[in-house]
Amino acid sequence: MAASDAQRVLISGGGPVGLLCAWLLGRRGIPVLVFDENSTLQADPRAATTHPATLDLLEEDGLADDMARVGLVAPIFQFWDRPSASLVAEFDHAVLKNDTRHPFVVQCEQFKTAKLLLDRLRGIANVEVLFDHEVVGVSQTADTVTVEVCSPAGTAKHPGAWLIGADGGRSVVRKSCSIAFEGFTWPERFIVFTTPYDFEKNRGYCPRSYFADPGSWCNCFKVSADGPPGLWRTVFPTDPSQPEADLTSDTAVQVLMQKFFPSSEPYQVVHRNLYTTHQRVAATFRKGRVLLAGDAAHVNNPIGGMGLNGGIQDAVNLCEKLARVLRKAEPEHLLDLYDLQRRTVAVEFVQEQTVANKKRLEEGRLDELRQTAADPARHKAFLMRASLLESARDAIRN
Ligand SMILES: Cc1cc2nc3c(=O)[nH]c(=O)nc-3n(C[C@H](O)[C@H](O)[C@H](O)COP(=O)(O)OP(=O)(O)OC[C@H]3O[C@@H](n4cnc5c(N)ncnc54)[C@H](O)[C@@H]3O)c2cc1C
Repeated sequence: MAASDAQRVLISGGGPVGLLCAWLLGRRGIPVLVFDENSTLQADPRAATTHPATLDLLEEDGLADDMARVGLVAPIFQFWDRPSASLVAEFDHAVLKNDTRHPFVVQCEQFKTAKLLLDRLRGIANVEVLFDHEVVGVSQTADTVTVEVCSPAGTAKHPGAWLIGADGGRSVVRKSCSIAFEGFTWPERFIVFTTPYDFEKNRGYCPRSYFADPGSWCNCFKVSADGPPGLWRTVFPTDPSQPEADLTSDTAVQVLMQKFFPSSEPYQVVHRNLYTTHQRVAATFRKGRVLLAGDAAHVNNPIGGMGLNGGIQDAVNLCEKLARVLRKAEPEHLLDLYDLQRRTVAVEFVQEQTVANKKRLEEGRLDELRQTAADPARHKAFLMRASLLESARDAIRN
């Protein structure tokens, strides 16, 4: 193995988590090689909500500030009862001002976060990002890990010291290492409609609004898109017995939108995306020289916006430890602590919380939430969990 390979970190996946890992390691002078199967960054309409605990970790080089600049700052979120169209509870992150440097959420679409990272990576000579490169296999010995990669130039093997699997929920790295992905898949898929209809101006909803409705629910979020006035995304569960073509038809779009948000005008919908949703955590986040992060390690429903936040927190935790191991400042088993800390949060907090978030909305039982919002101590305790500040603190106690 060449001298540079002995230190090199390979990363499968150039999504937001893979690129963040590349940046955190590259900034510390570590050679990094990233592979992504796509030919460029995808304009991915999934994550936007970035919580206070995550923003606190992204201050290096003004990244969190840049995310706020290209996104939206949202200090408040609301819960509404859909059948009565009444506001039940409002939570204000301002009460966390002594617990975080970011007492608000930033709504920054994940492709913007990825682009901010890719722009920064262009200035780091020891990091290379290869698009159109699909990782198809992984092998390892006690001293090295090798990925097999398909590209337009053919198939090649690349050796390195460590491999981070940040290649999403269907991770080839995780599967190649025979790491079980334990959990379940929701029978209903989630559908996202994106509309320029201004829910704040026309209906008084704040940029993060949740709607409870027995047997159904909706999340309604604003994103800045290409700039003011921005776009709104509405997320609904769908009927598992319905085929995709029926769920995404123009008629189905209008029926669902009109049920939740009756209007005399049809809604203009600029994107519609259907997602299969899982609650799963990898059996381990480390197998020898292979480490999993982000959706490759854990997936959950998007209610509460915790998937990418968890992935970013993985990346920060992992890269700090990996850099110390590579500097020989710590033994390799420090990486087992990454598995312990981040896997525990995924299993004991994120899975539980996101399942509970979904149940609350679909059961339409909001009385407890009303009381929580009205009581200052409970209001703050609720926000400490929702903002991921509590779980981030618990993680490092392990
Ligand atoms: C509707 C919806 C809304 C969401 N909203 C939020 C939110 O508000 N907040 C939040 O925190 N989370 C949210 N999430 C979850 C969030 O989208 C994911 O957690 C996030 O995308 C994970 O990032 P990642 O980099 O780990 O994986 P991905 O974004 O999936 O990136 C994986 C990358 O790996 C590449 N890749 C895959 N396989 C290979 C291979 N074999 N070789 C090379 N490259 C490969 C892909 O091209 C991709 O670029 C939402 C999800 C959905 C579905």
